Amino acid sequence: MSTHATTFVFDFDHSLVDNNTDTFVFDVLSPSLREKVNALSADVQWTELMNQSLNELQEQQGKTVENIRLCMTQIPFQPAMRRALDHLRILRREGKCKLYIASDSNTFYIDAILCHYGYGPTGDTFDGIFTNPAFVDKSTGRLCVKKFVEKHNCTVCNTVNMCKRDIYETYLSAASFPHRPRTVFLCDGSNDLCLVLALGAHDVALCRQGAEYGLQRKLIPILEKTPEKVQCTIVWWINYDEVEHWILTMM
Ligand SMILES: [Mg+2]
Ligand SMILES: [Zn+2]
Repeated sequence: MSTHATTFVFDFDHSLVDNNTDTFVFDVLSPSLREKVNALSADVQWTELMNQSLNELQEQQGKTVENIRLCMTQIPFQPAMRRALDHLRILRREGKCKLYIASDSNTFYIDAILCHYGYGPTGDTFDGIFTNPAFVDKSTGRLCVKKFVEKHNCTVCNTVNMCKRDIYETYLSAASFPHRPRTVFLCDGSNDLCLVLALGAHDVALCRQGAEYGLQRKLIPILEKTPEKVQCTIVWWINYDEVEHWILTMM
């Protein structure tokens, strides 16, 4: 077991949980809105699209905040991933690692899922959760979501509301810790690329393998043409047993 503190950063959708929270809610509660989201996604900023679609789901289709919360508890959260998280939670309580989530989901979805599986409330298992803020509007009683930031300056990230490298450098890297710990990043998406490229030689990116995952599509050409841009160790994984095995072996 490593005696060095390790900082774990988990992407949420298709990483910590095995689906996408933003689309799962419409897949389950309103297939027609899911189609509408698909049709609009090229033209409307994603978080704004989620907010307007959630509004439509509640206002016009009569779904409640509780319907949405219950829907989230049904998202696949693989047993192997939960076993690995149980292990890390014990190590965290012993001061051996820190656990963070950096995700383009939102606080409501993440809290609902973590609480359902006994990892909540926020702060119980994770040291910090960086994601879009969601809240129930007092005047309408409806769930709303806002952008994490209105705009960042990163040119690598294709999402305007979130740069995970910004989050990492602002909150989690050298400035925050007296001795820079090793970082392990569990990730799958194209908006995870920026942080993968920011990690150093002692760090590890656990990258989900598969043509459907945006990170692989962006990272493979970089590894082939300009491998010097990637300093961290890349560990590819296909199923959650591999993630569990890596974490239990290396921690
Ligand atoms: Mg993801
Ligand atoms: Zn970025």
